[in-house]
Amino acid sequence: MTERLAADQVSRAAELLRAGRLVAFPTETVYGLGGASRDAAAVAGIFAAKGRPSFNPLISHFPNADSAFAEAVDDDRARALAEAFWPGPLTLVLPRAADSRIALLASAGLPSLALRVPAHPLAQALLRAAGQPVAAPSANRSGGVSPTTADHVLDGLTGRIDAVLDGGPCAVGLESTVLDLTGPVPLLLRPGGIPEAELERILGPIGRAAPAAAEDEARPAPGMLTSHYAPALPVRLDATAVAPCEALLAFGPALPGAGATWQLSESGDVVQAAARLFAGLRELDALGQRLGLTGIAVQPVPMQGLGAAINDRLSRAAAPRG
Ligand code: AMP
Ligand code: MG
Repeated sequence: MTERLAADQVSRAAELLRAGRLVAFPTETVYGLGGASRDAAAVAGIFAAKGRPSFNPLISHFPNADSAFAEAVDDDRARALAEAFWPGPLTLVLPRAADSRIALLASAGLPSLALRVPAHPLAQALLRAAGQPVAAPSANRSGGVSPTTADHVLDGLTGRIDAVLDGGPCAVGLESTVLDLTGPVPLLLRPGGIPEAELERILGPIGRAAPAAAEDEARPAPGMLTSHYAPALPVRLDATAVAPCEALLAFGPALPGAGATWQLSESGDVVQAAARLFAGLRELDALGQRLGLTGIAVQPVPMQGLGAAINDRLSRAAAPRG
């Protein structure tokens, strides 16, 4: 069952988020499907509820700039933009801080984080009460239209999330402008609620990434995927046996004899496996190189539910490198 919470039930909504549950909430752009950013299982739950066939990086939401920048490496450009446009429909992509506890799954394994401070009073109240970053893509099933009312959210997600905080219709109805500040030239990743010209007034000229065609394509354009995390060690899929010179990414009962093993989910739960996927790839890659192992073998993961997104990510990791 999905609870519909009234605007005066913010503390109930925050309590659910802190317990790792999923709560949709209004922002000034669209309704977001919120889950605790630091809780990999909650983030996996967001992808499961949306039913996306792949993982895209999610925006983490904060009540103010200080809490947002605590997770990232900020600079003068970021501070100036925050001063001018936060709270508001602007998302900044910055390098992840070394001590950030945001789940790797929330950034789809990227070394950057997308941060936003929404202006909607109910979003503000919820984020303050939650006291921790909240990851939130738009609160619709994959391929659906971004929801601007609680009824839209329930149309798509009833029974798939724990609650929706009903704040009436969203005012802007446009998604946030996404600006990448990880490089020397600011890059517009997605046009949105803050016009480009307003950003250029503060930053000077900004570059443009190829526009994402649809929500399911909402990920950095192919030319930008150099920042997509790929292990240094070669990845071998659908392993039915493993050698002592290999690291093993296990799913279900682990194959015996690997040089190192990371268990995605002993019980074969794809949501748990999604939560542990990016941490596992990084851990085995680092450990494997330290131990002189020759590659990472991966046990088969079924295509059901989040299995499709897991397999999408694994086949990218295993693809020949250019
Ligand atoms: P949505 O969840 O629909 O609001 O879309 C999130 C947008 O932010 C997408 O365009 C993502 O590609 C972009 N985004 C989120 N995190 C990152 C990141 N770490 N690097 C680049 N783009 C990001
Ligand atoms: Mg969306």
